[in-house]
Amino acid sequence: MLIEAWGLRKSYWTGPTEFSALRGVDLEVEQGEFLAIMGPSGSGKSTLLHLLGCLDRPSAGRYRLDGLAVEELDDTELSCIRNQKIGFVFQAFNLISQHDILENVELPLVYAEVARPVRRERSLDILRRVGLERKANRRPTELSGGEVQRVAIARALVVEPLLLFGDEPTGNLDSQPGEGIMKLFVDLNRRGTTIVLVTHDPEVASYAQRTIHMRDGYVVSDSKRPLAAAAPVA
Ligand code: ADP
Ligand code: MG
Repeated sequence: MLIEAWGLRKSYWTGPTEFSALRGVDLEVEQGEFLAIMGPSGSGKSTLLHLLGCLDRPSAGRYRLDGLAVEELDDTELSCIRNQKIGFVFQAFNLISQHDILENVELPLVYAEVARPVRRERSLDILRRVGLERKANRRPTELSGGEVQRVAIARALVVEPLLLFGDEPTGNLDSQPGEGIMKLFVDLNRRGTTIVLVTHDPEVASYAQRTIHMRDGYVVSDSKRPLAAAAPVA
């Protein structure tokens, strides 16, 4: 089992008031799954994703990622795991504006200590696949919102992570580029990457073979489809 979580809780404090964003989530995700997380705004989807991605720590509960007890790891060990195993496509992109697109996409491979020529080749290849190879030497500020999002996706996919998390990854894209991006996720998933995507879009969720719904900090439904039905109608 790649992800095993028991009784995950997360509270936020605003002054003296405690707000429980997650109220006890149990979740198991097997290696190779493609999972969509749906639910109304404020139901705790992003909070759960941050915990699963080791970007934040739960207030209570236990979390095992790839066999490691996450709550026992210190911050350095956590960031090490994030760099080695996890790719993120979040709404806040954090592209580095002083670097061109190619350098931005290469960055995770620098952290992963991949040799420079291999880095270049893989980065250019993924930029080609998101349709931005001709803009490799542009800065993020010179691109449209949709293009920036595609760069962020390329950067997350270039490492072929064990596990990929996305929070509304196609949110800024028109439907056609969005479809192309979903095909990239499907490809990556077929090569073994486990994918967990938060989305409000049933079209996006239709690419996943499993969907959980959240409400008020709980998982309220969890449904799997047979593999053969996972590919959406074109
Ligand atoms: P979703 O992604 O499903 O829209 P979130 O996980 O972002 O929901 O948030 C769940 C709830 O927790 C929301 O009511 C939100 O206002 C609250 N929340 C999220 N982050 C914080 C924070 N840093 N401080 C206080 N409240 C927060
Ligand atoms: Mg959210």
